[in-house]
Amino acid sequence: MADLRTDVVGARPFVYRKKRLGCGAVGLTELAEEFGTPLYVYSADQIRYRFGLFQAAFAGRAHTICYAVKANSSLAILRLLGEAGAGFDIVSGGELERVRRASKAALKRVVFSGVGKQVWEIDAALKAGILLFNVESEAELSVLAERAEEMGVRARFALRVNPDVFAETHPYISTGLREHKFGIAIGEARAIYKKAKRMKWLDAAGVSVHIGSQIRMVEPFGAALERVLGLVGELRTDGHDIRYVDAGGGLGIDYGASDASDGEGVTAEEQVRRYAAALEGALGGEGARLLLEPGRFLVAQAGALVSRVLVVKKNGAKTFVITDAGMNDLIRPSLYQAHHEIVPVTQGAGEDAVVDVVGPVCESGDFFARDRSMGRVKAGDLLAVLDAGAYGMSLSSNYNTRGRAAEVLVDGDSYGLVRRRESLKEMLGAEILA
Ligand SMILES: *Cc1c(COP(=O)(O)O)cnc(C)c1O
Repeated sequence: MADLRTDVVGARPFVYRKKRLGCGAVGLTELAEEFGTPLYVYSADQIRYRFGLFQAAFAGRAHTICYAVKANSSLAILRLLGEAGAGFDIVSGGELERVRRASKAALKRVVFSGVGKQVWEIDAALKAGILLFNVESEAELSVLAERAEEMGVRARFALRVNPDVFAETHPYISTGLREHKFGIAIGEARAIYKKAKRMKWLDAAGVSVHIGSQIRMVEPFGAALERVLGLVGELRTDGHDIRYVDAGGGLGIDYGASDASDGEGVTAEEQVRRYAAALEGALGGEGARLLLEPGRFLVAQAGALVSRVLVVKKNGAKTFVITDAGMNDLIRPSLYQAHHEIVPVTQGAGEDAVVDVVGPVCESGDFFARDRSMGRVKAGDLLAVLDAGAYGMSLSSNYNTRGRAAEVLVDGDSYGLVRRRESLKEMLGAEILA
């Protein structure tokens, strides 16, 4: 079982007090009773703490931490990070609108990533005066130049280069190899910057890289950045004024699986320190502003998905614990075979049993854990799926016509609903019956 230490900040924010699990001082049983289940619960303190670790680790250098909105795009979380001074890494016009609503002052700290940007999205970002477009193809660069001319503004851009560095992670979230759809081969970038120099509506302001997600070893980040800085040197030789180096996101967390390849048991603080050391080793005396795009690392462990057990069912030798949360609420186990610790909200005395924890969705892939040894549970009990703050709610869907979960943000001793449970009316509202 996960190490559920008793200090809120610096460890997991979900802790037992008198055998009852709370987000800090706020009991999850009480939250489940007040707001129903499935329910996402987030710790504001934990998110601020982790953001602070990044700020401290890079304090010696001009930097902006652009939180990757797609990890968890809750307006309440965006606002709290915006207030802490974060910028944002967005991948759509929808995410741009989220930043606008949550933290207008942060629009000037937005970087816009993504392999397929639409014209309306580019226009909205130009109008908002974002910091930087991370451009992923020559064709996209032409569109950006056209739109910038049309709107009469110069577009600051960086090419997202593909450094061809292998980072050990799940193949679906590895992005830094030549065979991936992301970025521009680093060897081809210089020529594209040269062409861009002739376009007066384009300002080649930086170079970007992002090698993937849930990367636990820090060496690939350093290796990728070294290649990027080699290119930066060449670009300066060519007369480009490169002011930003964007090292992307991707730093992984310890989900507590026994097969974690590296960094297991390392504190968040130590992990960020190692990451910073790897980047600093590559950066040396580089004077450009460092941009970072962490997503998962800031929010994953700050969140838990609380669900109620509907039925405990035996099929032959197997025992299935069926919860009211399903793969539409948290798809990581189904999509990436991801491991999540699952703990009872009230600790019992019973001995452990080996069970599958599954949802009610009509798919065999709808599971949270398989052959997991855990304390005996019965219908009506509450379970918490831990480390669910990243790529949980943001990847949720209405599959099986299930409304999306509610979300609560706990801040110190207080808490508040930050998203209502989606109603049937909201779910069906856009559909047309002639
Ligand atoms: C998804 C993504 C991130 C964030 O990745 P994490 O693993 O959540 O840190 C950062 N930058 C880009 C371009 C991304 O696509």
